[in-house]
Amino acid sequence: MISIDGAILARIHAHGVRDYPNEACGVLLGALPVSSTQPRVVTRELPLGNSRESGEQYHRFVITPRDYLDAERRAGELGLDIVGFYHSHPDHPSVPSDYDRDHAFPGLSYIITAVEGKIWASPRAVRTQSWTLALDRSAFHLEADLGETTQGSANTAAHSSANEE
Ligand SMILES: [Zn+2]
Repeated sequence: MISIDGAILARIHAHGVRDYPNEACGVLLGALPVSSTQPRVVTRELPLGNSRESGEQYHRFVITPRDYLDAERRAGELGLDIVGFYHSHPDHPSVPSDYDRDHAFPGLSYIITAVEGKIWASPRAVRTQSWTLALDRSAFHLEADLGETTQGSANTAAHSSANEE
């Protein structure tokens, strides 16, 4: 379970749009639940630079050990925990890849934002979902659908048909 407010989501969307066609990524800080009936509460996001070599930036984000240590230190300064990570999928659905599964940890939230840049004149965040990894690491489960972004002037009918693959 995840709890995240709209202002943080809007900044995550903006980050994904700004870094398009590369993947944007960052850390979610907040409070880890003390029991399984409580949500992970995200109180702020921490954007990270994309450390992957430039030729590969567009298809896989990576969080380096240095990024992780910096994020932990920052979380400690703020009295917060690392509760998850976010990244964007340029021109791909907001669904984790095998790569994502291999690099994730159970017990955290993984927010993925689909950013489409081929349909509109400028890229936009179209869908965001939060995922959690099973304890045995076998699969991601959908934790929350954080909404589809439909504002703007796009012709949504044309969009859905153009997007079928
Ligand atoms: Zn991914």
